[in-house]
Amino acid sequence: MKNSAFNDRLQRPLRDLRISVTDRCNLRCIYCMPREIFGPEYPFLPKNEILTFEEITRLAKIFVSLGVKKIRITGGEPLLRKDIELLIEKLSNEVRIEDLALTTNGVLLTEKSATLKKNGLHRVTVSLDSLNNETFSSMNGTGVKVESVLKGIDSALDSGLNVKVNMLVMKGVNENDILPMAEYFKDKRVTLRFIEFMDTGNNNQWNTEKVFTAKEITDCLRTRFELEQIPPDYSGEVALRFRYKGTQIETGIIASVSLPFCGTCNRLRLSANGRLFTCLFATDGYDIKNILRNGATEEELLTFVTGLWSKRDDRYSERRLDFIKNPGSSANLTKVEMSFVGG
Ligand code: SAM
Ligand code: SF4
Ligand code: SF4
Repeated sequence: MKNSAFNDRLQRPLRDLRISVTDRCNLRCIYCMPREIFGPEYPFLPKNEILTFEEITRLAKIFVSLGVKKIRITGGEPLLRKDIELLIEKLSNEVRIEDLALTTNGVLLTEKSATLKKNGLHRVTVSLDSLNNETFSSMNGTGVKVESVLKGIDSALDSGLNVKVNMLVMKGVNENDILPMAEYFKDKRVTLRFIEFMDTGNNNQWNTEKVFTAKEITDCLRTRFELEQIPPDYSGEVALRFRYKGTQIETGIIASVSLPFCGTCNRLRLSANGRLFTCLFATDGYDIKNILRNGATEEELLTFVTGLWSKRDDRYSERRLDFIKNPGSSANLTKVEMSFVGG
């Protein structure tokens, strides 16, 4: 397979592929899959539309040949996908990937982490928004308790997986949990990253007033800790990185709203039903499943992907405020849901 370095229209290479393996989830986070919308009648994808592990692996090989270095398995909740550990094994055995990661809400991690590690997973990112059960339940829209996620995190650490934790901060909802979360994960020597609430999808009632910004987060952290900012690990890293002074323990902030990072965005997303999205805020994706199922050759698949990446000029987060101030602009178009396209 040929190996061609190529960039999009804004000179950004393709490096990071996020593969959503299901649009279903066992939680109903208010900022992602609010229960009122994602109820029993919600039309989740039928099984025959979902890419098989063979199809995902074939596509992953193509992307790696085009420069992808990092694959993240996500969803919906990826651990709900039947036999997900076999997909990890297949990718790890058949695709030369430098970094194989998975994002999960952690609820099913206790039972899966050892096999995931054994089968070749390098890292997990676990999402947890609070250590307080009342706040956590109100955010996750179910009765799921903090303890089940903490057990999942411990089990991932015990299995030898590299673990990071993501905490989404919503103003007026969980900013009081920033310091307890920082203390807890600093003690565990686990990197905790705070995420600004974004206007993903069409159903999470986002507005700027609900964003607890990176500046507010660092101000809050600095009331308790001395932080030193450190440079990005690699080009395209999304988090602002900090170290607790006098330690090697890190924390970070993903400031997609107040400090957008579209300029270095090298991410492509593959939805569970085989559509490619060049931006998290896209209205629609490019269908690669039908091309694949109609018997395309490697060359045809490569041409399709290079064609769509070369046309890419997305930079939604940098233009968010223009869109919002300008009714009739693309901010008012329907955006893909994050649970569908993969976070
Ligand atoms: N279910 C898994 C989980 O929650 O980790 C994986 C998928 S979830 C869509 C991936 C990440 O997206 C989570 O860390 C979640 O906090 C984040 N996320 C979801 N909705 C968001 C929003 N509106 N703004 C910012 N981050 C969001
Ligand atoms: Fe599910 Fe993750 Fe979305 Fe929460 S953020 S509803 S856990 S997909
Ligand atoms: Fe990348 Fe789109 Fe997010 Fe900008 S808004 S960082 S282009 S996914």
